[in-house]
Amino acid sequence: MIFGMIVTSVSSSKTDETQTLIIAICLWGLLGCTRNSLALFRERFEIHNLDYELYRHLSRISLEKFFSISMGQHHAGHSIIKRSIMSKGEAAVAGIVNMGIYELVPTILMVFIPLGLLLVKVPIIGACVIFVIICYAIYTVKYNTSFSPRLRKLDTLSNTVSKKRGEVIENADLVFANAQEERVRRECDEEKNTEGLQGKPVWLSYGVCFYGGQFFLIISQTLCIAISAYLARKGTITPGTFVAVVIWIGSALGTLTNISHVQRNLMKNLAPVSKYFRFLDYQPDILMPDKPVPIENLQGRIEFRHVSFTYRKRTDKDSLNDDEGEETSTKEHQEIPALQDISLVLDPGKRYAFVGPSGAGKSTLIGLVLRAYDSQAGHVLIDGVDIRMLDYRELRRNIGLVPQDVALFDGSMRYNITFGLNGSADKVTNEQLDHISKLSRVSEFSNKLENGWDTLVGERGLKLSGGQRQRVGIARALIKNPQILIFDEATSSLDTENEAIIRESIREASVGKTTIIIAHRLATVKDVDKIFVFDEGKLVEQGSHEELVQKDGYYRRLVHNQVILA
Ligand code: ATP
Repeated sequence: MIFGMIVTSVSSSKTDETQTLIIAICLWGLLGCTRNSLALFRERFEIHNLDYELYRHLSRISLEKFFSISMGQHHAGHSIIKRSIMSKGEAAVAGIVNMGIYELVPTILMVFIPLGLLLVKVPIIGACVIFVIICYAIYTVKYNTSFSPRLRKLDTLSNTVSKKRGEVIENADLVFANAQEERVRRECDEEKNTEGLQGKPVWLSYGVCFYGGQFFLIISQTLCIAISAYLARKGTITPGTFVAVVIWIGSALGTLTNISHVQRNLMKNLAPVSKYFRFLDYQPDILMPDKPVPIENLQGRIEFRHVSFTYRKRTDKDSLNDDEGEETSTKEHQEIPALQDISLVLDPGKRYAFVGPSGAGKSTLIGLVLRAYDSQAGHVLIDGVDIRMLDYRELRRNIGLVPQDVALFDGSMRYNITFGLNGSADKVTNEQLDHISKLSRVSEFSNKLENGWDTLVGERGLKLSGGQRQRVGIARALIKNPQILIFDEATSSLDTENEAIIRESIREASVGKTTIIIAHRLATVKDVDKIFVFDEGKLVEQGSHEELVQKDGYYRRLVHNQVILA
């Protein structure tokens, strides 16, 4: 409008028009300054409330959900797919929010304010522009919607490709050790190529639709300008109004392209966002009881009462990366019984061993004690209370677990050893660490560490040997001073000499604690109070070492084989 006023005043010789001209130019400058100040305000708002805060908020809700899902559900799903869904979903949600604030709202204003002015000043042109906007909106929504399933498929494919790459990078050692660099490079390249082959036609036809719409807008704009020019020539509107009308038509119709761009981005983000929301909607199968029975002075009595457990095979419904169609498929659940009618009691303060062939169900029993999963039949009781009635986080704080593969963070020894301590890690003194390190035999290598307890162990504990990692794992379990100690093949990566040392340390550390040792080597389990032998998910033998060697069963055969091998 101001520009139109300037044009009208410049082409007029009247003195009062000179005044209008000066006011219009001043207004022009003032508006420019206002716009700039608002942009600065916007920038500051963005830095304070969006850039960091939005990402932080999204990261917080993703991790909250991630850790609300049970350990069993995590084992069932693919971690790299989950990671990809989380990071892409967070980026897509942030993208949509940014787009809403910085593109959609200004775009709508830039279409509708000039449209309002047109309707007031030159209604016929306003009506034409409304007609064009409606046609273009219908066309855009139609073609964008028709592309939606194809974009969703592309996103699924892209997650699968990321999974492959992630796996290759995580298992780089395996690749190097087998000299398969060329092969994995080729496989990743082929997957990327497939992604490209499927993506290119989609985006090419999308381009045709998009630019088809642009032609329609340009032609409509030209026609509207032609009508305005005709009106100006007829004298219906002044040259100044004509200039303003041309700018308004340009703003209203030209900005429509942005709406298409916004919708295109929305469509692109729709697949990752809907998968992300599906992830956020994922229902945990292990729930905290409404009123958990408090755990005070845990004694450590563990009872399995007629426990049966079956791993539910992952179905399309559980998958976060599948298409809607597959998601609702009615594939049968295939079920694998891992434990069948197990009844046993572990008394507080005693040492027990679980032995049996691979796949017998020993680790599954441990999973039930940790409440990684719930049994479908029977009960697991801790100090006589059904495990489902306990606060599982509190329970886990009272359990020291040393798994076969000790997971380590890329942090200091201190950080890794004290990781399981609930908020009291800072209070752990070097003397306490020294004591634990003696028990776990970490002391045998800790004095060689360049920065003592502050030495960084590298990614996944890369700077430590397998045996050293195992000892850090033992130290981490012991420092919690838990009432229940579980060693799930904790000595499997140690040589016989070190195994004997660790065995001794387990013996020392487990005094007065309910201890479960899972081991294939008999030397590790021989001196426990009771040995439970499992086979194909069933408890087949139980007794002390001496009792079991008398029986003609799996344990005796195991003793026989290990004696022969020795
Ligand atoms: P190992 O001595 O080799 O560690 P294990 O006795 O600890 O074996 P488990 O790991 O408890 O055996 O496995 C028991 C059975 O359950 C096996 O048949 C195994 O294939 C199956 N199983 C274990 N984990 C899962 C899982 N996450 N999903 C499906 N099946 C599983």
